[in-house]
Amino acid sequence: MSSTSGPNEPHGHEHGHDHDHHHDHDHMHPYDPNHQHPNRPDQDDSLTYYKVMESAVRELLIEKGLITAEQVHRQIEAMDERTPANGARIVARAWVDPAFKQRLLDSPKQAIAEIGHDIGPMHLIVLENTPEVHNVVVCTLCSCYPRWILGIPPDWYKSRAYRSRVVREPRTVLREFGTEISAAREVRVHDSTADMRYMVLPMRPAGTDGLSEEALVSLVGRDAMVGVVEAGTGGEGSLAAE
Ligand code: FE
Repeated sequence: MSSTSGPNEPHGHEHGHDHDHHHDHDHMHPYDPNHQHPNRPDQDDSLTYYKVMESAVRELLIEKGLITAEQVHRQIEAMDERTPANGARIVARAWVDPAFKQRLLDSPKQAIAEIGHDIGPMHLIVLENTPEVHNVVVCTLCSCYPRWILGIPPDWYKSRAYRSRVVREPRTVLREFGTEISAAREVRVHDSTADMRYMVLPMRPAGTDGLSEEALVSLVGRDAMVGVVEAGTGGEGSLAAE
């Protein structure tokens, strides 16, 4: 990928320009405005306000010498490397180390830094699932999500149906994910915002007492950390590792 690639050029081909503000994606295909990139048929190539804004600001910062194109490129790569495996390692550590779990609940940023993740300036709250309470996370407004530790949010998380329904009828929505929460257990729905994100600390599955921390990591999937499933269920690792 070119070192000049940025968020406005996510399809990853060489544009061959550096600091020309007047460029337009269409210059690549001047005679074929309907051109589709075969590898990314879902890619939206339209030049939106924010894409133009991003490009202008980024190129200005590079021109002024405040950042380099290489730094931008490395940061994008670092963002791409964020996956739910990061969150799974945090959960598994909390399951095997009660002192770490307490630090995670009390001051998530510091506890997560202990295992090598800097979650940046955003405020993160870790919600512990217990036999009494099941937590589930949503962003009713858009798609706020703890990306530093869970990566890119899934499409359903961003869907209007999930965002509106999980607040009104959480148990029904959870049932659609295959998650039955007993009537005796309270369901709490947490609405994320741009500066307040949530991560669910799921309950450790029964029958996993003998498992190593590393084996436990494979039982923690993305959906369990959003709270729509319990750990160790449905397509996200299984108790077969036992
Ligand atoms: Fe949001």
